[in-house]
Amino acid sequence: MIGFEQVNKHYGSFHVLKDINLHIETGEVVVVIGPSGSGKSTLLRCINRLEEISSGHLTVNGYQVHDNKLPLNHFRKHIGIVFQHFNLYPHMKVIDNITLAPIRVLGLPEHEAKRRGLAYLERVGILDKAEVYPAQLSGGQQQRVAIARGLAMNPAIMLFDEPTSALDPEMIGEVLDVMRSLAQEGMTMVIVSHEMGFAREVADRIVFMDQGQIVEQAVAADFFVQPKEERARVFLSRLL
Ligand code: ADP
Ligand code: MG
Repeated sequence: MIGFEQVNKHYGSFHVLKDINLHIETGEVVVVIGPSGSGKSTLLRCINRLEEISSGHLTVNGYQVHDNKLPLNHFRKHIGIVFQHFNLYPHMKVIDNITLAPIRVLGLPEHEAKRRGLAYLERVGILDKAEVYPAQLSGGQQQRVAIARGLAMNPAIMLFDEPTSALDPEMIGEVLDVMRSLAQEGMTMVIVSHEMGFAREVADRIVFMDQGQIVEQAVAADFFVQPKEERARVFLSRLL
C-alpha cells in the first residue's frame, strides 16, 4: 500500500529524511515514534504529497507519488489525514464539516453525503453533535469529528499526526478508542504518536526515527521489550 525506497528529502540545505526504506501493507497499523524534530511529520506528509520528496521512490495506493503527472486530487481522495490541531471549519456545523468534501470532491448528492456523515458521527460516538459548531465541542469531540470527516471520504489509508497531543488528558482515551476500533476493522493506518501504551497495543509495527533516519523497525512487542538500537533504548528510557 505504501512503499518508500531510498527516499530523501531536503528543506533547502537541511537533510530532513535520509534514505528512508519503509513498506506498509494493506491493513497494517504502523506507529512512528521518535524525538521531536526527527522527521516524523515530514515522513507522514510525504505520503499524501503535502511535502515533495527530493529523491528516491515513493509508491502509495498504486501511484508514484513523485510523478509530475500525479492526479493530485484523485490521489488524495483516498488518503485521510488527521492533525494535532483539528483544522475544522469554525463557521460550519459539524455535519457540514463532514459532508463538504464528499459533496464537492466525490460528487455525492447532499442527502446521501448527510446520511453517510451521520453514520460516521455515530461511529465516533457523537451523533448528537451533528448540528452544533466546532467551538461548542470539547477537544476530544472535535478530534473525533476530524476523524469522521476523514472516514467520510472512504479512504484506503488514514494518517494521524499526533492526534492526541493537543488534548487534555481526560480526552485522550476517547480518541484512541476510535482509532483502536478502526485498526481492528482493518484500516491501513500510519500514526505518529507519543502514546506508548496505545502503540504497544495497537501497532503491528513500530518505526523509530531519529535525526531523519529510520533507526529501528520492529514488531511492537519486541520493540518495547527489547529495542535493538541504543538510540531507541535511550529514547524509551527517557519516557519512563
Ligand atoms: P517531527 O515531526 O519528528 O517533530 P518534523 O518532520 O516536523 O519532525 O521536522 C523535522 C525537521 O525538519 C525539524 O528540524 C524541523 O525544524 C525541520 N522542518 C520541518 N518543516 C520544515 C520546513 N517547512 N522548512 C524547513 N525546515 C523544516
Ligand atoms: Mg511532528
